[in-house]
Amino acid sequence: MAELYADLVDQDAAVQELRSAAASPVHAYFLVGPAGTGKRAGAVSFAASLLCRKGGCGACRDCRQALSESHPDLAVVERRSAALEIDDVREVIRLASTSPPEGQRQVVIIVDVHLARVAGPALLKTIEEPSRGTVFVLTGEPLPPGLATLASRCVRVAFRPARPEAISAWLVSRGTDQDTAAKVSLMAQGSSKRASALAEDPGAVARYDLWRSVLGKLDATGATTAHLADQLLSASEESLSVLRTRQAGEIEALSRRNAAIGEPASRGRKELEERHHREERRWRTDEIRSGLGALAGACRDRLVEIIGDRDSLVVNPDASRLLKSVASVNAASRALVRNPNEPLLLQALLVKLSSSAGD
Ligand SMILES: [Zn+2]
Repeated sequence: MAELYADLVDQDAAVQELRSAAASPVHAYFLVGPAGTGKRAGAVSFAASLLCRKGGCGACRDCRQALSESHPDLAVVERRSAALEIDDVREVIRLASTSPPEGQRQVVIIVDVHLARVAGPALLKTIEEPSRGTVFVLTGEPLPPGLATLASRCVRVAFRPARPEAISAWLVSRGTDQDTAAKVSLMAQGSSKRASALAEDPGAVARYDLWRSVLGKLDATGATTAHLADQLLSASEESLSVLRTRQAGEIEALSRRNAAIGEPASRGRKELEERHHREERRWRTDEIRSGLGALAGACRDRLVEIIGDRDSLVVNPDASRLLKSVASVNAASRALVRNPNEPLLLQALLVKLSSSAGD
């Protein structure tokens, strides 16, 4: 049964919970955790175990159909714009009002429920009055207060950021070399999805080295700070080329599909471009956050070098400066969520780091 969850990295507790739940499932689950931790893949594997007559063998027709999301008793509902709208969940409501034939089960997966501000009340009503044989599997990041009731109606299964060493081992098992795996796993911020994208990005290791070199280059002059900020931002911009190549491929594939079934070439194009735009926005933030992770790592390594086996940090002024730097880098990383102006944020951070270097 192990192979059903083989794509999840370092999620043993969640996998354990899903396995035990499959034996006698309740009507709704909420797979919750940060982006990139495998919640969607986990939901699909869980659905397979619910639809398989052997509890999730991973090999039978039900399992294969569920895993490829083509099982007739599985519906996967995803948003088509920035939020989960009423139109997106209409199908869920229709499905939930019909029961599968006696003794059978249907599974409805709803992705990104944390973005269901508008559709939330309709979803809540549907989940509170489920039809016999329907199991809802919701996935998302922690819910905003307005959607808390929705979460309270589901059994919660927590997905956690994966540890860098687990991500690294997973990448190596998929053919990435040790050095790249070790570096990109430190940049991935607990997301195996991001780690896997970075491992295929030929510029990722150089960017990791660039971010780590910042500490040694700061000299408390404004010119150096500005130059470094520019360098880091243009490196982040270059990282987008990998994403853009993949997106161009998706647009081509869409045109081919449309041509093959005689649909107009523009069909679905606008939605795809909107999704690409959101991906790009998110990619930029992820990239800066990855860089900040590498920078914080460099500060911590330097700290370990300085203090060696001495026990007090407080007596060593270099060590307390580095501790302050780690705190500033972590604060900047958290601020990225609500402050999307990366250039300003980065410059402010570098000014702070160079002033603490010159204390
Ligand atoms: Zn099976």
